[in-house]
Amino acid sequence: MTPLLQVRNLKKEFPIKKGIFSRTVGSVKAVNDISFSVNEGETFALVGESGCGKSTTGKLLLRLIEPQGGEVLFQNENILTFSKEKMRKARRHMQMVFQDPFASLNPRQTVERILEEPLIVHNIGTAKERKQKVYEMLEIVGLQKEHGKRYPHQFSGGQRQRIGIARALMTNPKLIVADEPVSALDVSIQSQILNLLKDLQKQFQLTYIFISHDLGVVRHISDRVGVMYLGHMVEMADSEKLYAEPLHPYTKALLDAVPIADPNVEREVITIKGELPSPANPPSGCVFHTRCAQCMEICKKAKPEWKEVKPGHYVACHLYS
Ligand code: SF4
Ligand code: MG
Repeated sequence: MTPLLQVRNLKKEFPIKKGIFSRTVGSVKAVNDISFSVNEGETFALVGESGCGKSTTGKLLLRLIEPQGGEVLFQNENILTFSKEKMRKARRHMQMVFQDPFASLNPRQTVERILEEPLIVHNIGTAKERKQKVYEMLEIVGLQKEHGKRYPHQFSGGQRQRIGIARALMTNPKLIVADEPVSALDVSIQSQILNLLKDLQKQFQLTYIFISHDLGVVRHISDRVGVMYLGHMVEMADSEKLYAEPLHPYTKALLDAVPIADPNVEREVITIKGELPSPANPPSGCVFHTRCAQCMEICKKAKPEWKEVKPGHYVACHLYS
């Protein structure tokens, strides 16, 4: 398979400002030198606790914010070198689905207008063709033509996420970055939306970056998973391998937090002790060492290397070096 997206050494820092003059007093390394690639038609999940840098990574991939370093190759072209205009055009191929569709849908526009907007922005089709496409897309995501005349507040959370997904698909994108697309929904609705995303992926050969704090949610949708902690990628593997044989103590702890349906299955319970350290003042050595049950002396001093320990299975942890 050919990679649609290749991310190399991506870095993003946010300044910490203080006082009435907004003096810069430090910085937060939100994304710290992460690399991965995503094949065409694949679902790559980025998982970690809130504040780990996964949403920032998602925004960097679409250049909604600018990184301080690294490369983002989309179809072998580094989009970080694109002019504003070239980037604007490229965005029709890369779209985003947000956690809270309500916040991302203009409450004063009808659904028809909301869905038509990306076509207008990218100058696609005549007015008649655009309307036609809106109606088709409404049906594709499980809504009806009549829904086009309504406003976002007239829909349930699940329906609103269908509208958010429809909007993302209007320009026939190749890549969709979905940031916690089901986190705000009831569990029963979550599986409907996950199934819809899977169907659409087949139908339109979509590639997904699926961002979630919940390893349970991404289990059945992802082909590969990257686990992030305090702006670092700590483990990456095929989904099956990651769930069957997690290597990093943080991944193990996250998996432990996922409820299992079978009460007869006994597990060794590892909980993540302590609070998440401030990203403005990350721990020395291994960033996870302040919470790791297997922490060794070396972990406090030396940063573990990012290593491929089995084919396609990467981890940054001194237990494997
Ligand atoms: Fe734990 Fe050390 Fe591995 Fe970090 S490097 S996860 S502290 S064992
Ligand atoms: Mg987030």
